[in-house]
Amino acid sequence: MRNLITEAIILRKYRIGEIHKGLVIFSKDLGLINIIAHGAYTLKNRFRTATEPLTHSIFYIYRNPVKDSYKLTGIEPLSEHKEITYSVKKYFIASLWAETILKSRGGGESYTELFCLFDKSLVFLSELPDKDADIVSIQFSGRFLMLNGSMPDISVCSLCGQYIPENENVFYLPLRDLIYCTNCKHDGCSLLPAGGRAYLSKTLQQDIRQAFKTGIGSVLRNTVKQFIYNAMEGYIDTPLKSLQSGGGIL
Ligand SMILES: [Zn+2]
Repeated sequence: MRNLITEAIILRKYRIGEIHKGLVIFSKDLGLINIIAHGAYTLKNRFRTATEPLTHSIFYIYRNPVKDSYKLTGIEPLSEHKEITYSVKKYFIASLWAETILKSRGGGESYTELFCLFDKSLVFLSELPDKDADIVSIQFSGRFLMLNGSMPDISVCSLCGQYIPENENVFYLPLRDLIYCTNCKHDGCSLLPAGGRAYLSKTLQQDIRQAFKTGIGSVLRNTVKQFIYNAMEGYIDTPLKSLQSGGGIL
């Protein structure tokens, strides 16, 4: 097939020479692909505005079978997610998700499920007020880890192997996905309180819309957020740049 039509969201753009725009898009039925939008950095180009990151569109693509390269031939935007680009907080969160998807190579075999999660989460991030943005991000991140079978098991200590009762706190180390009980915790460990465990266990099993209705205080929310972002870095096996650059906001 030389001509492809696919639904996708733009994760990244980069310049090729003076006027051409390279795009990394996350496609529902193809996963991650690199495409070139010829001339998209010139003022009058028809692809100029529709090729910004986070834009969700139907892409018309020509595949050159000799070079195995992809060229954009048409685009029909479905949503530009403008509300996200207007909010610094939301924009940082969406950029964190995009980086996670890129670094996990589009979620491997489960790319279609990951696409649906990303798409749905972007819609929620657009619609909900800034104060709820962290909750959307916790839900995206937890579900991303579950999809990849990489959610740390918060009910068993990875050192002594003991089951950790639901009403007890657990501990973890930066950039690792190991969980420790109170007896085995050591220097440098961070805390995930029992309330945070309960929140994750409950809400990650629910429909995402239902999960937003479960209340969580701001202090607990922050510890859960730190835990889940750490688990994502542990899974990807490298610090996420968006977390470093957006440290004060994320
Ligand atoms: Zn232990």
